[in-house]
Amino acid sequence: MIRSLDYGESDRIVTFFTEEFGKVKGIAKGAKRSRRRFVNALEPFSRSELLFSRRSSEGLALIEQCDVTDHFAGIRSELETTLAASYLVDLLDRFSVEGKRNPDLFRYATDFLREIDQGGISEPMIRIFEMRLLKFAGYEPRLDRCKICGRPLEEMGYAVFVPAEGWLRCRGECASRSPDKGSDGIAASIGTVMTLLAGMQLPVEKARRLVLTGRQAEEGRALLTGFIRHLLGSEPPSYRVLEEVKNRF
Ligand SMILES: [Zn+2]
Repeated sequence: MIRSLDYGESDRIVTFFTEEFGKVKGIAKGAKRSRRRFVNALEPFSRSELLFSRRSSEGLALIEQCDVTDHFAGIRSELETTLAASYLVDLLDRFSVEGKRNPDLFRYATDFLREIDQGGISEPMIRIFEMRLLKFAGYEPRLDRCKICGRPLEEMGYAVFVPAEGWLRCRGECASRSPDKGSDGIAASIGTVMTLLAGMQLPVEKARRLVLTGRQAEEGRALLTGFIRHLLGSEPPSYRVLEEVKNRF
């Protein structure tokens, strides 16, 4: 379940990310009254078995029944983990298309939620999720070489990531070349980029092993959230809430 909205007196509009049908948006009629059919099932980031039928006249699937298979109580037990999971699920919503299957992304996202349910979440794990999600959604940032001169990452010295291109450029001459002149480029050291790429290769159960230095964390955050902001046209509000709460502690 990725989103749920009250609708009228007793209904709810719910968005699910499913293994077989991709993103499904539907209406759960009488959800607020029928505890039997929808017991706790319409809460964000719970995993459920879903029974739904053809689309209603409003273009929504009719959710007949929903049974929770995993409630992820661990995620809900701590504010920062809850907010981080809300951000990840928000990204899942924004980068998936209704009716388009993406079983690899489904598996990855559910494994990831299970992992943070059991052991909490770290900032480097958020970066790993962002990168994997972008890859599954077809927007993988190109970080292995310079778009302009083709120099491999290891030889670049210092790099600039250009969100409008989704590519790295060498800082200096390549960055100032048109098109775009890399003017909105995000600076990143090679060490940061290599660490992010290594983190991306980690299987879910080892994701928490990724450690970033203060500077790597800052550059990685700027690079990925800058790219995501460019792709979505704005910063997801769930990200802003997560950052605000983090800064208060
Ligand atoms: Zn270059």
